[in-house]
Amino acid sequence: GEDHLMKRTVWVWIEHERQQPKRVSLEILGKARDLELETRAIVLGDDTDSVCQQVARVADHVTTVEDHRLARYNAEVHTDVICQLYKAAKSALVIAGGATFNGRELLPRVAARLGCAFMGDITDLANDEEALSVRRAIHGGKAYAWLRPKQDLPMVLTVRPNAFSLPAIHDPVAIEKANVKVPEPRARDIEVRRGDAVRPELTEADVVVSGGRGLASPENFRLVEDLADALGGAVGASRAVVDAGWRSHDDQVGKSGKTVSPKLYVALGISGAIHHVMGMDTAKVVVAINKESNALIFKHADYGLVGDVREVVPALIERLRRL
Ligand code: FAD
Repeated sequence: GEDHLMKRTVWVWIEHERQQPKRVSLEILGKARDLELETRAIVLGDDTDSVCQQVARVADHVTTVEDHRLARYNAEVHTDVICQLYKAAKSALVIAGGATFNGRELLPRVAARLGCAFMGDITDLANDEEALSVRRAIHGGKAYAWLRPKQDLPMVLTVRPNAFSLPAIHDPVAIEKANVKVPEPRARDIEVRRGDAVRPELTEADVVVSGGRGLASPENFRLVEDLADALGGAVGASRAVVDAGWRSHDDQVGKSGKTVSPKLYVALGISGAIHHVMGMDTAKVVVAINKESNALIFKHADYGLVGDVREVVPALIERLRRL
């Protein structure tokens, strides 16, 4: 039981951008260490030195593959390399990555290739009854299920950002360079252009400020953006405002939109319909501002403020800017 778990490790695909590991990758390392499981960070790229040095202080093992074909994330190539590493080592209990834009594409491919159980968007991990189990939301977030894989194979997971805390820092471990044959991708980049987004990605943000129909007009939505910027957060929206064409569907939070798990969720002029709440009820702290004291959103809020968003929000932004 325990012995068997101890000998095997949790592999974490370290997603990185501009020489920085993504926070969610580190959070998975943190959780695995809390469960006293061994961790192995897998760093793929063309120049992984700086990322490896950072994760060497938070993981038990670091394996890197450096190759120009890994310079940018490519699902096909990354899947192949991770599967080769696994087949050579056969020591992973779990292969995990963040439930990010890329992670949601990569990890299911790895699971399919290895014939393993895949569990997506998990929010908890437990090590009891001699086996690992994971928790994920079901029925659109109305309930949670604990799952355990059937066979004695690695289980492949994506983990929701902000579900776990960061790992403690220790003296750096050695970095192992693995030699694998990196395949030539079948699709190649012709041109890469950076988008002009300055705010963090909605599903990965620590702070999300969302606006609803209570904003009354698309012009007033500026208040949501300004508050998000004052807090360094992402902008979300209710379906009512997406349907009204004020915001793109990319910004929608809820059952038919995105699920967010920030540390702070601010709901402005949102009634708190269950379909919206399903997308944000794992937020650590919820602040709601609504002019109706009986609005449903207050049932899900840690802090509620009854007032008109058009008066309260400018005052709040002003105060935050002064701070
Ligand atoms: P409203 O319900 O109209 O609420 C506006 C709120 O603003 C009210 O509470 C009002 O008191 C307050 N208000 C008004 N003026 C002010 C002011 N000046 N200052 C402060 N407060 C003010 N919804 C989602 O959001 N996401 C989803 O993914 C989603 N999926 C759905 C899927 C299905 C199958 C269905 C049936 C519905 C779905 N919905 C979803 C819709 C959902 O049920 C609600 O209709 C929607 O969330 C309402 O949006 P809202 O809160 O912005 O608007």
